[in-house]
Amino acid sequence: MTLTQHSQKPCQDDLQNFGDSPEEVRETDHYQQEYVEEFTDRWDRLIDWEARTEAEGDFFIRILREHGARSVLDVATGTGFHSVSLLKEGFDVISADGSPNMLARAFQNARDHGQLLRTAQADWRYLNRDIHGEFDAVICLGNSFTHLFREHDRRKALAEYYAVLKHNGILILDHRNYDRLLDVGVAVRSGKGNVYCGKDVNVSPEHVDEGLARFQYAFSDGSTYHLNMFPLRHSYVNRLMNEVGFQQITSFGDYLPGHDDPDFYVHVAEKE
Ligand code: SAM
Repeated sequence: MTLTQHSQKPCQDDLQNFGDSPEEVRETDHYQQEYVEEFTDRWDRLIDWEARTEAEGDFFIRILREHGARSVLDVATGTGFHSVSLLKEGFDVISADGSPNMLARAFQNARDHGQLLRTAQADWRYLNRDIHGEFDAVICLGNSFTHLFREHDRRKALAEYYAVLKHNGILILDHRNYDRLLDVGVAVRSGKGNVYCGKDVNVSPEHVDEGLARFQYAFSDGSTYHLNMFPLRHSYVNRLMNEVGFQQITSFGDYLPGHDDPDFYVHVAEKE
């Protein structure tokens, strides 16, 4: 553990291990070191699931039901918010994530909500190696796809999602509105999106270029963490989904059709 020079307290950023040049860290595999136990723990205690439920409303449930989905593979389970919400609504859910820390936390959270999570540790790039069976829907939510830094990884992951879907299945994938971050000056960049609506965390972009969006998460208890992400442009994600084989893509802005300049986009991609 590294200590800060002045306070001799553990430096949270070092615990995340971005090294001496954090802006140079642009690696798909680095997510494992970013979601450290301490960050996950704070995230869980300070992000309000009720506020998230209120912000999302029944948006995802409605989309899934409109498409007749029953079985759902949550590929980015994180601390379990969507898996638990869908289980409560009667969906048949498998909860996957590449991070064992996250899955352990999600399992515990689900238990606290009276639900039993069926978990599988799986990296999206090799999803079909670890996940067997076919699903009506794959969900990749909470700005997760942004963790893939190489175009090859993004194509591979989308192809793996496509492969685990039934012939009429859907993929629901969201991401922050990075177009705004990339195109608008740094002074007016707001990092606070409607999805993570906890008042106990201030989310702000620290560095943005075409290959990196580095965000700081400052919690009300004084701790700070960072995530390095790839800034996904809306039209680029649409194009990739098309090229991988998805036939029809409908995009929403902040859960509304045709809303431009939202905080978050949600894409619903149909296999057939
Ligand atoms: N969906 C959750 C939510 O909305 O609260 C969590 C999202 S969290 C921002 C992103 C999750 O994606 C993390 O749990 C991380 O471990 C996972 N992840 C990132 N890259 C991954 C990869 N290549 N394969 C599998 N999981 C990955």
